[in-house]
Amino acid sequence: MLRLYDTAARAVMPIEPAESGHLRIYACGPTVYRDAHVGNMRTFLLPDLIARTAHARGLRVTITQNITDVGHMLDDTGLGSSGAVDEGQQGEDRMLAAADSAGGSALAIAREFEARFVADCERLGIGAPKHLPRASECIPLMIALIGTLIEKGHAYIGGDGSVYFDATSVSDYGAISGNRLDALKPGHRFEGGVDPNKRFHADWALWKRAPHSRTQLVWDTPWGIGFPGWHIECTAMLLEFLGESVDIHTGGIDLRFPHHEDERAQTNAAVGQDVVRHWVHGEHLLFEGRKMSKSAGNVVLVEDLVTRGIDPRALRLAFLQTHYRTQVDLSWAAVEAAAKLLRKWRQTVAIATWQPSHVDQRMVNQVLEMFEDDLTTASAIVVLRQFEKDESIDISVKAATLAVCDELLGLDLTMSQPATLLHTADVVPDDVAALLAQRSLARDSRDWAQSDVIRDELATLGWTVTDEAGGQSLRRSRN
Ligand SMILES: [Zn+2]
Repeated sequence: MLRLYDTAARAVMPIEPAESGHLRIYACGPTVYRDAHVGNMRTFLLPDLIARTAHARGLRVTITQNITDVGHMLDDTGLGSSGAVDEGQQGEDRMLAAADSAGGSALAIAREFEARFVADCERLGIGAPKHLPRASECIPLMIALIGTLIEKGHAYIGGDGSVYFDATSVSDYGAISGNRLDALKPGHRFEGGVDPNKRFHADWALWKRAPHSRTQLVWDTPWGIGFPGWHIECTAMLLEFLGESVDIHTGGIDLRFPHHEDERAQTNAAVGQDVVRHWVHGEHLLFEGRKMSKSAGNVVLVEDLVTRGIDPRALRLAFLQTHYRTQVDLSWAAVEAAAKLLRKWRQTVAIATWQPSHVDQRMVNQVLEMFEDDLTTASAIVVLRQFEKDESIDISVKAATLAVCDELLGLDLTMSQPATLLHTADVVPDDVAALLAQRSLARDSRDWAQSDVIRDELATLGWTVTDEAGGQSLRRSRN
């Protein structure tokens, strides 16, 4: 059974879906005013790894992930940075700031970055969520929810006409982050530290009254023209698409507070029960020793890998070589090394007529159990490396086993192509296997000259390769 580290419980917990056989996951998605960098992508990989592991045990998995395209104040609470915030932008709306600097409509920019996010996920083998709702298209849900929270006495209209959540109206605030209300200090955005529009400094905006100057991303509501606070969109989408019992909620560690803490308070207050069963967070990624940020100028995108000629699945493999709860310092050298390993495994898979009968089921089970054990993917890669290197194991067994494990790994080891036919009972030496794989790649790119060079090379090694409808056929040459 799948076990994951539950941030609220501060322990690794067994994950038992509320509905038997059906796992529901809510994943905090991107704010689409700029590209997601590779550190963000590591977080977005998390629900995919959980889903693949659950699938392997026959579970149905439903993932909902939000697209934040309505903009939000960077820090609605005045309680200080959540960690995801660039310095100097507090209180500004990131979507509108991006629209301003690009001179376009905020939603048009959002669609552009959303498409790039979806493409990056595909390039990393991150399965598409069942629902990918846009905040801008869920405003009525949020308005209804805010109405419910006011009705139930959990929200009020503040001095500035905005609607605020009353943090003191819930008894267990701080369950995820450990930040208790009585210990939270007011932020620095207001003279004296307290926003005069709120009853209590830790209250946060559910709905912000828009200034007259704001003409984009505003909606009419019973509380005037305005726009939603950040946290309310996740509450609204989670309840709409997944219902009142959600097994796992994922996000980056920086979202633990205040985003998830506030989201949890709102959601539970609206429904009247604890809705999310497990909160699971992925750690930060450093690159070449530093936290990636726009101001430091060291943001790395998936596109940057492609520009360097690196298959994005190599990045995925580099992530798998680490534990999602460990802060990792990634480097180009590590990504290059992962790319090399990826090529080697793909070559192994490409050359053999792997069949179900060739699968080393013990190895598959070992890898699956490691995934189930709080996604200890790094250990799984280590055992697979040893397995793939082991010269006593037949190459067809290696190929078939890697291909099956790829359901979990998501490395596209089969290159989405049928395996090369291999009509031989002989054990194929590694150098021959590698040449055959290279020839297969050459033929895929219609490089017939290279294909012929490799055929001749194989002949000198004592192997005859011919081409058939289904792929290459290999035989030992008769002397
Ligand atoms: Zn969220």
